[in-house]
Parts: sequence; structure tokens; C-alpha cells
Amino acid sequence: MPTDTFDLLPHASPTADAIREDILANPGFGQYFTDHMAHVRWTLNDGWHGRRVLPYGPLTLDPAAAVLHYAQEIFEGIKAYRHADGSIWTFRPEKNAERFRRSARRLALPELSDEDFIGSLKALLAQDHPWVPTPKNEADECSLYLRPFMIASESFLGVRPSHEVDYYVIASPAAAYFKGGIEPVSIWLTEHYKRAAPGGTGFAKCGGNYAASLAAQKEASANGCGQVAFLDAVENKWIEELGGMNLFFVYKDGRIATPRLTDTILEGVTRDSVLTLARGEGLTPEERPISIDEWREGAANGEITEVFACGTAAVITPVGELVSEQERIRLAGDNGNPIAKRLRAKLLDLQYGRAEDTHGWLTRLV
Ligand SMILES: *Cc1c(COP(=O)(O)O)cnc(C)c1O
Repeated sequence: MPTDTFDLLPHASPTADAIREDILANPGFGQYFTDHMAHVRWTLNDGWHGRRVLPYGPLTLDPAAAVLHYAQEIFEGIKAYRHADGSIWTFRPEKNAERFRRSARRLALPELSDEDFIGSLKALLAQDHPWVPTPKNEADECSLYLRPFMIASESFLGVRPSHEVDYYVIASPAAAYFKGGIEPVSIWLTEHYKRAAPGGTGFAKCGGNYAASLAAQKEASANGCGQVAFLDAVENKWIEELGGMNLFFVYKDGRIATPRLTDTILEGVTRDSVLTLARGEGLTPEERPISIDEWREGAANGEITEVFACGTAAVITPVGELVSEQERIRLAGDNGNPIAKRLRAKLLDLQYGRAEDTHGWLTRLV
């Protein structure tokens, strides 16, 4: 038997069909979990081994497990989409697998192969495919959100990379991330906090980055905003991204710009896909530094016609205004966000199999 196959320990009493259907009718986001999870263990001596799919449930961790003290943890976010013929697909998983390895290297965790990363998604879906919701129509953006993650599980309070690591995938049925659909959102520009600094972990998808963003997120909520935008830590001038989404700016003349990648920006798969799709739409993509002054001036003089955020969970969401303690930046040339809507529709049509996959971005899971 090849070593990369996943053994199955089936759930003794999986969720009843009627209960699952109730959940799938109104899943929200990240609230319900499927019956199983995938697991692979790593030890310094034996490498990756023990691939299996087992019943979903609490983990047993020693209180001295390294992850609980030093946050040696990384994760991914990727979705499974049900197509009209019932087949189940995922979007560019090799990009997530590659990013997971980049994150692993930065957090001194072991690297997981494409075979194990994609294999774990397939193995989990082979059991839990009934949990992938069926879209009722083209506006119904339901999916199964997959959350691969890796934790340092060795019980040892000395500070060094863990010699024992566990990788899991859990899955949660999801409706649209923002309840308002494609209604523009208000974004808070924090002046007190930074998400990432040069040489730090900003480019890695690690829990620590999110922990560091929560105080700013609280500030945003207190000011009526759902998300936070961060400026760079060195000059306090360059736009980086939101807590969990990348940003794009659309210009009157057909340019579409996003901050160029540095080690303080998370390289979104959606970001990369938008850059490709934009070119196909006759737009001119640009990756370059964008300052807060450019946002302010471009919004005022009508050069910038749309701003949007993008990520796997929320797809593409127009930004209505940027709010800070000093100011509110709204677009003078607000035009109803036609480009964001067009790119969003293109992306969703590909993901749900309604458009031909000319880029080879889809991988069949079931
Ligand atoms: C996950 C994430 C994104 C979006 O990445 P996608 O691959 O498009 O989902 C953007 N920024 C941060 C900080 C993230 O963690």
C-alpha cells in the first residue's frame, strides 16, 4: 500500500440526514462542522506518517504542548464547491499547498507535500461530501469551507521548534461570508496597531498574525466597521491589506492596482486570480506600492472609481469607505462597483463550474 493513503476510522453515529439538511439550509460561517477530520502526524524521527480520517471531535493535548505557549501554528482556508452535476471541486489547491509550505518554513514547522495536502482534502471529502451544500441558484454562494492547520504538539516548555507536529483538516459548511452580500463594507484604518513588520510573519498564514489583529478588530467594531486596514510598520504610509483579505483599487483609466508583495503581505490565491482575470477583462493590472495619500486623493478627485477586498471566504467585497480617527475617505466617483461585480461573477462562475476552466484552476475532489 502506498504510504500516502488515508485509513478510515468511521464515525459511529454521524449526523442524521434531516439534521444535516437543516444545518445546510442556513449554515452561517464557521459554526458547524462535519462528521470527520483528516489527520497526519509528524515526528522528527519518522517524518509524516499515520494518515487517517477519523471522527470529528476534541483534541487531546498535553497542557505543555508547544502550540499553547509559543503559537507554533499555521493554517489554510480553501473551499469545496458543488457543481450542477453533483461533482465536488476545489480551487487552485496547489497554490494553498505551496503557501502552506512557505508558512511552515517561516514557523519552523515541517513541510507537507502537495500529495498529502490535496490527498487529505480528497480523503475527508470522500466521507463528508454530503456536507457540501447545493447552490439553489447563481446568487447562492454556499460551499464547504476547508480548514487545514498544523500545530506543534510536543510537550516541552523549552523554546525550540517542536519535534512533534500534527496536521488536521476540518470542514464547515458556509453561506456567504458577509450577510450583506455585495453591499459595500466600511473599513477601519487603525492608527495604533500594525499587523506585520519586515522580517516578521506577515506573509505566513499563522494564528499569531490573527491574534495580533484582534485588538484592532475590536477598535473597528467599536467604530461601526467590519474589517481593519493596516498600513506598513516602517513609514506608516503604504497600504498593506486587511486582517484577512487583500485590497484592490480600480482607476478611471482601466488600471487595477494592488499592493506589491513584500514579506508583510499575505499572498492571497484570490488576489492572484483577480490579477489574471482582470487582464482577461481588458484591465491593466499593477502590483506596486500604494500610499494612503493616493487612496485619499484618488477618492477625492475621482481617479479611483472602486476599492474592493478579496479572499477565499468573502470572495470579492466592495469597500464603501475607509474610516479613521481623523477622516472618512469615500469615493467621489462612486459608480456602483461594476468591475468588482464583474470580476466576482467571473470568479464564482469558474468555481461553481458555470464557465469553462481555461486556466486549469479546478481540482475534482469527489
Ligand atoms: C488568507 C488571507 C488572505 C486571503 O487569501 P486567499 O488565498 O485569497 O483566501 C489575505 N490576507 C490574509 C492576512 C490572509 O490570512
